[in-house]
Amino acid sequence: MQSPLPLLTIVVPCYNEEEVLPATIAQLSSVLAELTNLALIHEKSNLLFVDDGSNDRTWSLIAMESVRSPFVTGIKLARNVGHQKAILAGLEIAKTKCDCAITIDADLQDDISVIQTFIEKYHEGYDIVYGVRDSRDTDSFFKKRTALGFYRLMKRLGIPLVANHADFRLLNRRALTELSRYQEENVFLRGIIPLLGLHSTKIYYDRKERLAGKTKYPLKKMLSFALEGITSFSITPIRFITLLGGVLFLFSLVAGSYALMQKFFGYTRDGWTSLMISIWFIGGLQLVAIGIIGEYIGKIYQEVKHRPKYTIDIDLYTNPMLNSQQD
Ligand code: UDP
Ligand code: MG
Repeated sequence: MQSPLPLLTIVVPCYNEEEVLPATIAQLSSVLAELTNLALIHEKSNLLFVDDGSNDRTWSLIAMESVRSPFVTGIKLARNVGHQKAILAGLEIAKTKCDCAITIDADLQDDISVIQTFIEKYHEGYDIVYGVRDSRDTDSFFKKRTALGFYRLMKRLGIPLVANHADFRLLNRRALTELSRYQEENVFLRGIIPLLGLHSTKIYYDRKERLAGKTKYPLKKMLSFALEGITSFSITPIRFITLLGGVLFLFSLVAGSYALMQKFFGYTRDGWTSLMISIWFIGGLQLVAIGIIGEYIGKIYQEVKHRPKYTIDIDLYTNPMLNSQQD
């Protein structure tokens, strides 16, 4: 075992999670207490709740608990920036103090009992420990199908995702440092972290029902998350268009020669049907192509602006005293 004991920070992104937060705080605190008792982590280990611009009582719950419990700290982002950036904000702040960080969703759908195994793997020297869902029995049929399709598509596009792994993972200091060198605007952690290429392992667990509250990932957010994942990591869609263009060009050469031969050596048809079909076909194809290219240009536009990904409004992690001063 490494010594001294590692300071663990568990980063929890929260967006309007007032219903589930009290239970989450209690359960994660007892995990920390237990790991401290087992002498697996440093006694100053803590929970870092990232309030992602919630408009319910999420932040007041975090702030209140942080006064009461030595385990609880939090940061409040100035506005809602989304799950991925909220996690990143937490990790970047956590990096200032911790030796390893675990990220987990606030709804505790991921099994907290495997956190101990994560830490044991950390002690064995792994840089990254991925939590992988063994079953998705509690997710809706629709969510299961779309998620499966998404992982398959990503694999086809050559993006090295860890299948059935969401954002429940442990990163050690080395992984956190490497991660901070990735400065892209479009954060897709599931894609970036395997790219680090560090020493990693997987732990399997059953995914559970949301403890309370509703999902913060409606269909629209899920689609944009998938599109983000694909276009941030792969130019295959653009290549596909080029290829399709090439094939169509060859096809039109053959079809064109055929039409000319018919004109000079056969008889001329009035051609209306084929004309209409090709106009619609090519028109549609062009729109798709422009759309995909636009998607990438949009990405370039966002990247070149190089805006900060989030603004921290209140930081109780590095300034625990702030809370008492406010009251
Ligand atoms: N979340 C966030 N910002 C958002 C949306 C979600 O920080 O804009 C958090 C949310 O509070 C939760 C996690 O991201 O801790 C995952 O969201 P959720 O459980 O609703 O997603 P699902 O499990 O349904 O995919
Ligand atoms: Mg969830």
